[in-house]
Amino acid sequence: TLSGRRRSVLPQDMSKPVNKRLSHAFEDTNRPNKQFYQMIEEFRETLEVLPLSLSDTVEAHRICVCVRKRPLNSKEVTKNDIDVVSIPGNGTLLLHEPKQKVDLTKYLDNQVFHYDYSFDESSTNDLVYRFTAKPLVQTIFDGGMATCFAYGQTGSGKTHTMGGDFSGKSQNSAKGIYAMAAQDVFALLNQRRYSSLDLCPYVTFFEIYNSKVFDLLNKKAKLRVLEDEKQQVQVVGLQEMYVSCAEDVIKMIEMGSACRTSGQTSANANSSRSHAVLQVILRRRNQVHGKFSLVDLAGNERGIDVRSSDRQTLVETAEINRSLLALKECIRSLGMDSHHIPFRMSKLTQVLRDSFIGDNSRTCMIAMVSPGMSSCDSTVNTLRYADRYCENNRSIFPVV
Ligand code: ADP
Ligand code: MG
Repeated sequence: TLSGRRRSVLPQDMSKPVNKRLSHAFEDTNRPNKQFYQMIEEFRETLEVLPLSLSDTVEAHRICVCVRKRPLNSKEVTKNDIDVVSIPGNGTLLLHEPKQKVDLTKYLDNQVFHYDYSFDESSTNDLVYRFTAKPLVQTIFDGGMATCFAYGQTGSGKTHTMGGDFSGKSQNSAKGIYAMAAQDVFALLNQRRYSSLDLCPYVTFFEIYNSKVFDLLNKKAKLRVLEDEKQQVQVVGLQEMYVSCAEDVIKMIEMGSACRTSGQTSANANSSRSHAVLQVILRRRNQVHGKFSLVDLAGNERGIDVRSSDRQTLVETAEINRSLLALKECIRSLGMDSHHIPFRMSKLTQVLRDSFIGDNSRTCMIAMVSPGMSSCDSTVNTLRYADRYCENNRSIFPVV
């Protein structure tokens, strides 16, 4: 495949008049983005679409990088925003970036990105789970470390994917990757081949905000991170809850999620500035046997206006950028089997140090993108961040 490469395709013929039928959404209206909308629709008609389906085979990668596009939401539709992202399938994503020449001629800069998988707006959490986190569950039974990251700008669907559907007042936690992973962990625990191992499952759930760790299963208690002489990292006092079934885990997810968004003046604004980490830990005779970390990362938006932001926001943003950069470096080191893992670059990577070492560590990154033209700059950032992982990591392992 052409993984990790990016190029412009088929520059649109500017002289061609736009004479196609209009989609009903734009009929009889004179919307500002109408012309771009038509150009994108025209382009889409030429695309051969081969969407992923539940029956497709899953390839196991040591490092798997995917992209997921959410649907346009009602707010975007109301603002006459248009969908500038196409997912023809096969791990490909097309970004139709609207541009204007000096003479005001409108054109599309069509950019192609390739990942291990690409999920379109009709994809369910079930489908995304099947190709991303599900293949990693086995890893922790084999004594390895598994990590799954949700990356992207605020509002792109990270929490929806990991924690479950938040539409309406309450969260449907059972429909998120956290819960689906927990269900599969218990399914394997009950299999005869693993029952003899005497594995005990535990859950931790914590948040990292401005380099500080807070326990979401213990009223946001602030915790210290210590590193011993053997470089083992410990979060002191972190509650590790024993769980006896998937429903127990779902209860923890709900408790922790409620804790995450409570007690702040602008609750959601704050939760988007922190990383949330849910871990399912398998212990055998009290020793860690395997660990699955599922991480809802802080929003990656960079376009913070320096003049209008307060000091607090600037510090937060710098910290988030630093930790996301550190994460990228650590995953790259993992992919190159490097012995130098720069995990001390941030609290996030320090706490997740285990995930980046060992022959049996596997990682999945799901980059979320908003489809709107108004999110284009952020989307480009997200796509490029995820793109670079693919450079060194093409090794494919057989699924057991
Ligand atoms: P983030 O955690 O990245 O800030 P959220 O997960 O909170 O974003 O998503 C923002 C909004 O978009 C929520 O209302 C969520 O329900 C909705 N949403 C996100 N992804 C999808 C999707 N794939 N399908 C439908 N709605 C979605
Ligand atoms: Mg969120």
